[in-house]
Amino acid sequence: MLRAGVISLHTSPLTQAGSGDSGGMNVYIREVVSSLTQAGVACDVFVRRWSDELEPIVEVEPGFRVVHVPAGPVDLAKEDLPAIVDTFTAWMRSWLAENPVDVLHANYWLSGVVGHQLKHPLDLPLVTTFHTLARVKAEMGDDEPAARVDAEARVVACSDVLVANADEERRQLIELYGADADRIEIVAPGVDRALFSPGSAVGARTAIRYEGGPLVLFVGRIQPLKGVDIAVEALAQLSDPTATLMIVGGASGAEGDIEVHRIRGLITKHGLDDRVRFVEPQPHYALSTYYRAADVLVMPSNSESFGLVALEAAACGVPVVAAAVGGLRTLVRDGVTGYLIDDREPAHYAAAIDKILGDPTHAAALGAAAAIQASRYPWSGLAARLRRIYEELADARVLVDCS
Ligand code: UDP
Repeated sequence: MLRAGVISLHTSPLTQAGSGDSGGMNVYIREVVSSLTQAGVACDVFVRRWSDELEPIVEVEPGFRVVHVPAGPVDLAKEDLPAIVDTFTAWMRSWLAENPVDVLHANYWLSGVVGHQLKHPLDLPLVTTFHTLARVKAEMGDDEPAARVDAEARVVACSDVLVANADEERRQLIELYGADADRIEIVAPGVDRALFSPGSAVGARTAIRYEGGPLVLFVGRIQPLKGVDIAVEALAQLSDPTATLMIVGGASGAEGDIEVHRIRGLITKHGLDDRVRFVEPQPHYALSTYYRAADVLVMPSNSESFGLVALEAAACGVPVVAAAVGGLRTLVRDGVTGYLIDDREPAHYAAAIDKILGDPTHAAALGAAAAIQASRYPWSGLAARLRRIYEELADARVLVDCS
C-alpha cells in the first residue's frame, strides 16, 4: 500500500474552519486525505502540537491519522513558527525512520521547508501545494517577511511536483518564482456534493431564522485580504434597501480583530447596523443551510489561490459575485454562473448584485448553471490525480536535486 506523509505544520485538518488560522487549507487537507485513503493511499498528517489536550496520534478513519508533533510551546504565535521548523523536522525524521512513507506532500510554505529538509536525507519525493504565495500577496500590497519569500523560492526549486489549484497559480509560480513548468500539475480542489447541493431556500431561511428581504452572503475568515469592506460598501449602494448582508466567519490573522473593528465602524458609518448580520463560524456541514438561504454569495478577495467558498455556494445553486483573481477566475463563469469583478470598486459589485436580485429568472438560471459547473469538482477526482502523481514519483525515484 502506498503511504504518504502529509505535512501541515501550522494548522490541523481537525479544527473548525472559518476563523483564526483555519480556513480552506484545513478543509482541503481533510477532504483530500479522506479521499486518498478511500483510494488506497494511507496518509499520516503531521501537525504541530498546538494544545496540551491533544492525543499524540488521532486515527480519523482507517488509513488517515493525524500525528501531533511536539515542537515549541503549544501557544506559539504563527509569526514565531519559523523558529521551530528545525525541531519539527528532526522529530518527523525520527518518526519516519520507524514509520516510512513513499512520498511527502507539504502544504503551505512552512511545511514546504520541512519537506525540503527531509527530502534529501531520506531520498523521498516531495509534492508541494502552497495554498498562498508571499509574492502574490505582495502584489496586492500585503507584504510578507523576506525570509518567507526566499524559503518559498527554495521549496519551489526543490519540489518534484508543485500542485497548483488553478491556471492562475501555475502562471504565478512560473512568473514570480521561476518554477519549472514541467513540474507543475494543475489539480483543482473539490466540493462534497453530499453536503453542498441545491435545496429549499424557504426551509433554509427558517432553519437559520432569517425573515428579511434579499440575502447577500459572505462566508470566510475576516481579514483585510478577504475584502469584507467592499461587501459592506456594495450593500450601501444596492437598489433594494431591504437587502441584508450576512457575514459568517470570525477574525483571522494578526490583523483580524482590527479588521472586524474596522468593518463594524464602516457599517455604522453607512447606517447599515440593521442590515448586516454577523454569524459566528459554523461547522463545515452546517454551511449548506446558509448558502441555500442566500440569493447571492459575494467574495471580494484581494487574492485567492482557489476560493472553496465560491465552489460550495455554486454547488448549492447560488450565483457568485467574486473578484476576478486566482482560482475564482476559473470557478466563476462571468455572466453564466455569476459575475467576475475586475476591480475593487464597490459600485461594480453592487451593480452585479442588483442584476441578480432584480431579476429572479436570471438569478435562477445563474444558480442552475453554477450547480452544474460545481459538479465537475468532486474531491475524489483530486485524490485520483494525486494518487497517480504519488505513484509515478515513488516508482521513478528520479528526484530533483537542488542541493
Ligand atoms: N468555513 C467553514 N465555516 C465557516 C466559514 C468557512 O467551514 O464558518 C470553510 C468553508 O466552508 C471553506 C473554507 O472554510 O471550505 C474557506 O475556504 P476558502 O478557500 O474560501 O478560503 P481560505 O480560508 O482558504 O482563505
